[in-house]
Amino acid sequence: KIDEAEKFEGCWRLSNLKVSVDRDPGKDFLGVSEALLEEIAEVLEFPVASMLPPEAFSVVRKSFDARKLLKEPKFVYTVDMNVNKLMDLVPRTRGFISDLEPKVGQLEHMSYERVFGDITSIVHDCRRISDVAVSRESEHIQLSEPYKYPATKKPKVAVVGSGPSGLFATLVLAEFGADVTLIERGQAVEQRGRDIGALVVRRLLQLESNFCFGEGGAGTWSDGKLVTRIGRNSSSVLAVLKTLVHFGAPKNILVDGKPHLGTDKLVPLLRNFRKHLQGLGVTIKFGTRVDDLLVENGSVVGVKVSDSRNNLISSQQLGCDAVVLAVGHSARDIYQMLVSHDMNLVPKEFAVGLRIEHPQELINNIQYSGLATEVRSGRGKVPVADYKVVKYINGDDVDTPLSPGTMRRSCYSFCMCPGGQVVLTSTNPSEICVNGMSFSQRASKWANAALVVTVSSKDFDSLNFYGPLAGVEFQREFERRAATMGGGNFVVPVQTVTDFLENKLSGVSVPPSSYRMGVKNASLHDLFPSYITEALQNSISMFDKELPGFISSNALLHGVETRTSSPIQIPRCTDTYESTSLKGLYPVGEGAGYAGGIVSAAVDGMYAGFAVAKKLNLFQGSI
Ligand code: FAD
Repeated sequence: KIDEAEKFEGCWRLSNLKVSVDRDPGKDFLGVSEALLEEIAEVLEFPVASMLPPEAFSVVRKSFDARKLLKEPKFVYTVDMNVNKLMDLVPRTRGFISDLEPKVGQLEHMSYERVFGDITSIVHDCRRISDVAVSRESEHIQLSEPYKYPATKKPKVAVVGSGPSGLFATLVLAEFGADVTLIERGQAVEQRGRDIGALVVRRLLQLESNFCFGEGGAGTWSDGKLVTRIGRNSSSVLAVLKTLVHFGAPKNILVDGKPHLGTDKLVPLLRNFRKHLQGLGVTIKFGTRVDDLLVENGSVVGVKVSDSRNNLISSQQLGCDAVVLAVGHSARDIYQMLVSHDMNLVPKEFAVGLRIEHPQELINNIQYSGLATEVRSGRGKVPVADYKVVKYINGDDVDTPLSPGTMRRSCYSFCMCPGGQVVLTSTNPSEICVNGMSFSQRASKWANAALVVTVSSKDFDSLNFYGPLAGVEFQREFERRAATMGGGNFVVPVQTVTDFLENKLSGVSVPPSSYRMGVKNASLHDLFPSYITEALQNSISMFDKELPGFISSNALLHGVETRTSSPIQIPRCTDTYESTSLKGLYPVGEGAGYAGGIVSAAVDGMYAGFAVAKKLNLFQGSI
């Protein structure tokens, strides 16, 4: 219960405010429109909407809701109302505010909280004010204890991998004053762009500079979706998003319900990120691969590196006080190396399947029907349509016990790229795996998404893959089968959804695909074991009930999607982020099994950065 005095403190959050498409200025407008003020007035029961000053309100979230259960698609807003400002500007509102009561789902009283900025400002605050305690549970970065005096010697940290987790760990550590060397086997975005161009146009796969390896990690040539399941409004996610804005991302990612960047926005952003790190004194070594860890008395004391661009095993050694291992889930050589050090790696559940591609127009029509014309290749009033589907196979009711011997699996769409293209994410020419990317306008005529089924240790055992790297072998098996089915030269095996459902292959021609290195009609229904194929077939039939038209002879399945998340986890201590097997090693991000996606990897890297800084007593340093 909120008392009278409290009502005039802080702000009120108004959520679920709906504005129809014809009255809304469109997806790119993030201000307070006349139509939105009318909706606010209705919630506040304030009689004259035009008297409400737009300056007293700020939009914190704007989404487009086109779910079928709605009579008509709407823009849905969450808005913060600054009570003091409102009363200063329109004293008459006082009476209405004193009558307000929190209502579940629409009105929420919020006291003013410390609002964190981007990571640089957080670190500066920490160093200026106090010691810091980072707690993932509370999702707050708490400041406590008094400021201490400067350390005399800068600790050395090697960060391996410049994906989101490595970059954010580097940023935090460099801001705290560590002597950081960022080691990346791939190339800087400029050269990486040329290498990817050579792959797509001339079929030249650079083993160390491709869609998975290089500056920015796996997420650079991606859709750049910034949606996350770890709490959109948590201070850590906001700190990451604000940092991206600081480096050049458009501000609307802070408000958009489904923020995304696209490759064209990510590349310059990464360049700015790099310049900032270099300005802080970070040494960045591109084209440099970590091959081994230097271990003394159970602690990591450095790394062994080689020149990956020219494939020279120079065995140079770099000594350091801590190693942050942020290598992503495609660094299979690193997993092997960790096993050789007797490190504890735990196989974990992940998902495999196929990437489905539809004409974007078909998905717009399914999702928006009459409104589909408003999309206009990403430049229209409403966003390009996407979808998200999930089904449990062997019973949708997760509370019902299963009969003995059966496994409940989920089959779901993953990493959906509206207006995008299918790309090759193999890191070895004898394997094929695919994923999706897009540019910021999402203007291509294709919509693709992975359709994947969960797999776990029992499934690896069934193919005689055992031990900590069983999941990696499982992935590799299907990537090799896909390469064989495609016939080589990075040609991807495909099958129409209609044929896949009927376990047949009709004719040799298939509908066009956005994949640029060629596709070949193939029996994808024979690629996976029957429990995966049947799970996919059953779910596709169920997805079609939710999205009528999803099953179409124009929908093409591409094989295979295997690297949905890491097949292993590298155990680490919850508070210190240090490996449980090896002191001085900090496994982070997706490759270590602690993140899935750009934002969660960045958040994990950020927390790891704070944890390492704390361990190395960096909070005592001065700027
Ligand atoms: P990574 O980004 O994989 O970075 C690891 C880095 O370590 C790489 O740059 C690699 O070169 C380097 N490295 C590996 N081994 C070594 C070594 N031995 N020595 C030195 N360096 C090494 N996620 C989203 O949230 N939204 C999306 O839209 C999205 N789209 C995607 C599209 C594609 C095509 C792909 C491949 C992935 C996509 N993802 C997306 C997933 C996302 O990219 C990853 O979840 C995220 O990048 C993981 O971050 P990370 O830092 O843990 O690892």
